[in-house]
Amino acid sequence: MKISEGFEVLVIPQEHGAYHLSLLFTETEALLVDTGNPGQEDALEKALNEAGLSLERITKIVITHHDRDHIGGLRELRRRLPKVKVWAQVDEIPFIDGSVPALKIQDLDPVFDTLPEKKQLFVTQMKKIFPSITAPVDFGLKDGDVLDFDGGIDVIHTPGHTLGHICLYHRKSKTLIAGDAMNIQEGKLIGANPEFTHDLREAATTLKRLSHYDIQRIVSYHGGIFEDHPDQAILSLTH
Ligand SMILES: [Zn+2]
Repeated sequence: MKISEGFEVLVIPQEHGAYHLSLLFTETEALLVDTGNPGQEDALEKALNEAGLSLERITKIVITHHDRDHIGGLRELRRRLPKVKVWAQVDEIPFIDGSVPALKIQDLDPVFDTLPEKKQLFVTQMKKIFPSITAPVDFGLKDGDVLDFDGGIDVIHTPGHTLGHICLYHRKSKTLIAGDAMNIQEGKLIGANPEFTHDLREAATTLKRLSHYDIQRIVSYHGGIFEDHPDQAILSLTH
């Protein structure tokens, strides 16, 4: 899905719904935001090809947070693209590179016996999968940093869903890449998924940080594209 010149949203179909990976590119560089689930690199390459691009074009990867569906392809992409550089918020890096167990494992493992069966299965799967997908990050990001890419990309630290979750604001297209800070349900903008959010209260209050930006469009990783007065819709979520 073309957002603007040099901005494509790559749609990677899933069993339920789809992931929406943002790809920003200039003539010489391409920056991918998040990497899908493990084993989905070929689907990513297909989406790139459909947009008239190749996997080899990717020079930079920014990770919004360390959940499996966002870092799953990172290790394999680093293998296929040895020169690629990777950025993430500083608090999120130890989870991405595997220095510490995933936050959801830390949250849920101590109360494993009290969890419903479905969630127990989820924790067991996470513990099995994570050691095989963690990968190094080259550079740490902080709130207020600006990535020098295609007119500038603002880094907005939006903790709540995870500790080091970030949203990115692409100045040129006035687009907010929201990661999992917001979702879209039946055409309505909603907050982070309550079932999979570390601190739901913080995930809501943190959205206030977005009020400094003139947002004309939101790309939600799980929800897709939202263009119906996004500023007002975000504001309504922070009350
Ligand atoms: Zn996600």
